[in-house]
Amino acid sequence: MAKLKLGLYWAATCGGCDVAALADIVFWPIALDFKKHHVEAMKDKEIDITLWNGAVRSSEHEEMAHLLRAKSKAMVAFGACACFGGIPALGNFTNKSEIFERVYITAPSSDNPNKVFPQTKTKVAEGDLTLPEMWDTVLALGQVVDVQYYIPGCPPTVPIILKVVEAIAGNALPPPGAVIAGEKTLCDECPRKKEEKKIARIYRSHELIPVPEKCLLEQGLVCMGPATRGGCGALCINANMPCRGCFGPPPGVYDQGAKMLSALASIYEASDEKEIARMVDEMVDPAGTFYRFGMSTSMLKRKR
Ligand code: SF4
Ligand code: SF4
Repeated sequence: MAKLKLGLYWAATCGGCDVAALADIVFWPIALDFKKHHVEAMKDKEIDITLWNGAVRSSEHEEMAHLLRAKSKAMVAFGACACFGGIPALGNFTNKSEIFERVYITAPSSDNPNKVFPQTKTKVAEGDLTLPEMWDTVLALGQVVDVQYYIPGCPPTVPIILKVVEAIAGNALPPPGAVIAGEKTLCDECPRKKEEKKIARIYRSHELIPVPEKCLLEQGLVCMGPATRGGCGALCINANMPCRGCFGPPPGVYDQGAKMLSALASIYEASDEKEIARMVDEMVDPAGTFYRFGMSTSMLKRKR
């Protein structure tokens, strides 16, 4: 039987997502010396599956997404960044010029008195040097090209990757559009006890050692379980840490942050507006917490 042809591409991501050993890899620029022209020379749909890792935030990512889409039978958004924007999409709370200002000028490690910023084209004696154009807005892969399957997680877990590998090898992939993870919220698969308790304050993880068998949210830690798709095996919860939401919104929920806000509001014990204001102030970086992985595909999409 002919081996599958697999493409792997890294866009805007941290490098936590990694998969390789099931097929002939025909493109994997981070690890092997394939060039764009090798992909351009392929016939349309020649690659069986491309696992796309990372959000789309530059002209190069966009070009590669369209190229690999044309050359692949199926595109798979692999990991939280490809599925929902992930951590890079926190950049949607600002814009390109503010990011450049911070990175190249005001960061304590920057020494750039002439305020030199990256240019998309620079003339040198040997010719033109080019760089991709960085965008203001970070997008999920599915906001740029058609995506057949979504594998969430930061990074996707080994059992889920094995499930996908077996499905690919056995030609038994689910119907297009499927999110390959759980079908309920993380709370539904969490082993901790919920007691319908209200909370009077929010704690940060370093301020409290939680009781292992009790719900973390009911102990005052912002656990994203009510607003997160299950399927990871409650990895963080089992390590006595609150869920950060890397599996994205559960089925039927469009905006993970709004869902979490509503879950939190329902367990706050506050008798008046002053008390509510105090509790809201206690929470450090609520937008970054609620939308840590899902900003691109949220209702907000970006700061306006
Ligand atoms: S909020 Fe967190 S700790 Fe509580 S039941 Fe849900 S996943 Fe478990
Ligand atoms: S518990 Fe939450 S943050 Fe941790 S792996 Fe699971 S979905 Fe991701």
